[in-house]
Amino acid sequence: MPTSWLHKSFSVSDARLTMKTSNSKVAIVTGASRGIGAAIARRLGTDGFTVVVNYAGSAAAAESLVHEIENAGGRALAVQADVSDPVAVARLFDTAEKEFGGVDVLVNNAGIMLLSPIAEASDALIDRQIAINLKGVFNGMREAAKRLRNGGRIISFSSSVVGLYQPTYAVYAATKAGVEAVTHVLSKELRGRNITVNAIAPGPTATDLFLKGKPQDVVDHIAKLAPLERLGQPEDIANVVLSSPAPTAHGSTAK
Ligand code: NAP
Repeated sequence: MPTSWLHKSFSVSDARLTMKTSNSKVAIVTGASRGIGAAIARRLGTDGFTVVVNYAGSAAAAESLVHEIENAGGRALAVQADVSDPVAVARLFDTAEKEFGGVDVLVNNAGIMLLSPIAEASDALIDRQIAINLKGVFNGMREAAKRLRNGGRIISFSSSVVGLYQPTYAVYAATKAGVEAVTHVLSKELRGRNITVNAIAPGPTATDLFLKGKPQDVVDHIAKLAPLERLGQPEDIANVVLSSPAPTAHGSTAK
């Protein structure tokens, strides 16, 4: 991270006083109440970013994470928004701008995984994953493209299933392949603004999304497939988000 992206930690009361004038970078993390998103929000908070902790339904978990970040000397705010709803996503950015003066980083992390053979896939299973995993990323990118301060970052989530193409993963993999496609396109559309646009494709990671409904022997088998012979942990992925290409110090200070 360039030096200009760092800022000193301060107490909660100091944070309230300096809310409008702090020059800390502001990051929105979608789906940050649990799993990988929560680890990313926690890590960004520790690294001096002001964090908007977005959630869909888990208000208590999101508020608890905000308190944890604040108790560690950081600054955060929980904001409810269903990423599949473009109005809600615009409101998410409105809130971040009103509370913190602007947005520098968008982490398009929110996602769901519903597995089914294509022959048995219901319309609801197809539509819901497209609405959240793909349209949700479009909704975030559209606001970010218009509103992110120059020198920012946009990071979205693909998956290792793009490339593996296992049975039952068709809809989920299609949405993630779509995320990779729009990531390439947006990086070119934002030429000249010093905004990096990247996607991360984690392998199996120990969160509800991966673990829910899988018998332990299946989890153990999948864990052993990785060269490290273990599942990824949310913190492993959060570390990758921070090491994604950063804009230059010059760009990060531009408005
Ligand atoms: P998770 O533990 O199930 O957490 C999902 C998060 O997304 C929750 O905070 C949830 O909020 C939020 N969310 C769900 N629907 C939403 C919506 N419509 N609007 C806003 N937020 C919503 O999942 P995870 O494993 O951390 O996954 C995070 C990302 O990594 C996803 O994009 C996933 O596809 C990707 N990924 C995961 C793995 C893995 O093995 N875990 C592997 C590759 C890629 P609520 O709690 O409020 O519902």
